[in-house]
Amino acid sequence: MISSSEMTEPTTAQAPETVTAVATETEMSRERDGEEEEKIRRQKKLEEALEAKSLRRIISAYLNYPEAAEEDLKKWERSYRKLSPAHKALVPHYALKFERLKRCISTNSYFIFNMLQAFEPPIDLSQDLDGYEDSNLDCAPHEKYVLDERHDSSCQPALTNNCAHEEESKSMHDSELQKKDTNGPSPNNYSEDARNNDERYDCDGGHLIHDHGNASLSSHDWLDPSLQTHVPLVDVDKVRCIIRNLVRDWAAEGQRERDQCYKPILDELDSLFPDRQKQRYVSLSSAYRVNYMICSTPPSCLVPGAGLGRLALEISCLGFISQGNEFSYYMMICSSFILNYAQVPNEWTIYPWIHSNCNSLSDNDQLRPVSIPDIHPASAGITEGFSMCGGDFVEVYNESCQAGMWDAVVTCFFIDTAHNIIEYIETISKILKDGGVWINLGPLLYHFADTYGHDNEMSIELSLEDVKRVASQYGFEIEKERTIETTYTTNPRSMMQNRYYTAFWTMRKKCAITT
Ligand code: SAH
Repeated sequence: MISSSEMTEPTTAQAPETVTAVATETEMSRERDGEEEEKIRRQKKLEEALEAKSLRRIISAYLNYPEAAEEDLKKWERSYRKLSPAHKALVPHYALKFERLKRCISTNSYFIFNMLQAFEPPIDLSQDLDGYEDSNLDCAPHEKYVLDERHDSSCQPALTNNCAHEEESKSMHDSELQKKDTNGPSPNNYSEDARNNDERYDCDGGHLIHDHGNASLSSHDWLDPSLQTHVPLVDVDKVRCIIRNLVRDWAAEGQRERDQCYKPILDELDSLFPDRQKQRYVSLSSAYRVNYMICSTPPSCLVPGAGLGRLALEISCLGFISQGNEFSYYMMICSSFILNYAQVPNEWTIYPWIHSNCNSLSDNDQLRPVSIPDIHPASAGITEGFSMCGGDFVEVYNESCQAGMWDAVVTCFFIDTAHNIIEYIETISKILKDGGVWINLGPLLYHFADTYGHDNEMSIELSLEDVKRVASQYGFEIEKERTIETTYTTNPRSMMQNRYYTAFWTMRKKCAITT
């Protein structure tokens, strides 16, 4: 039998015929390798092109926000015009309300545009899908846009852009979102008094005038309105969701919701890792002697499905090496802007509640401004090593280098986003150190439970009892368990307040049994 090394390195002692046969085989195998490489290269390029297409669509959704919001406004105006003069006279302030709404849309659009200007796409957005007609694009992961009506009847968190980022984008987000120099230059270089965009909006028949300080469009061709495509309205709904998520994570108004959802998790981490600030002695041996150095390595905590990043930031401020993981570009574009570019608290004004006239106690409630961010993230006291990592949780953290890496995994309104929740639990178990903890808070409103028309889309919808049973099979022991009542991106002044009775638990991964 000829071993593979012998095949590629024939010796002179071999008969000429054998050498020729071996050489032919070598050529064939090289050819096969070449074909394989070409296939992989094409596949990678296709995936990148799909990701670029998906990202362009998300950017378009953001850019379509003003137009879509104004369409709604026009609809409301049309209804108003249908009123009889007598009925019109009963709500004389209505015309004024429409004018105010127009300005609110303009202000929101201004914030969005600034956010997009600060965004550095991790991939070349100009690439397209030409030449890939043979591919089954329907099945491409980036093309799955599914509405998610899980958390609020009027809000679908941006859950569904399945960006399976490859290494480049992963590392981009790792480094881009890491703690940045707090004195770093602003992308737009606004003067101090112009920062709050309330004073900066300009209305041109409801259209935003692109007056954006010093920022130049040249490096952001993808922002050029002429290159924008129209997107389905459901995509723009996701933008509205992001605006609501901004209140949850980054406004004083969201404090109550954060107290309900994030505080129990932070308190639990605080009590489970009491010694995290303590310094430890480690030895540093050099050629001649052993030195001792005081070293403190904070415990590490991963937050999959980190949304707009506030919980991951709070965990970092608590003294953990914290990493948020998020796969939606809708979320990542926005969290990156707040985490990396916010310069002062309350820098921006948005009007998050203008998109619905329902359940409003007053017009002033509906049209109230909300300032963001309530804190300046860069001065919040984060622990070194804070990062956000883009990509699908299972894909990114199933890498072998992640095994046994984390002291804690925190999931908040996340585990029900899975196609297969068992896979999530398995991954969490794998990446935790022995003795590490998994803290969870959230409902089981399975995200893919009601996706019609996708026959091969899987959705495993376990009951809480089964989730716990499966977790125990992966070595988890429940240490704490209770129900916590919360809202999710709810307008605190609305007459409708959806509530969740969420499952909150702490589970510990049992230590490996050593023999
Ligand atoms: N934890 C945040 C966000 C909850 S919504 C909060 O409590 O506010 C769930 C988040 O998980 C969304 O931002 C969604 O984009 C993200 N997500 C869903 N599936 C994911 C996956 N497979 N990998 C990473 N993030 C995911």
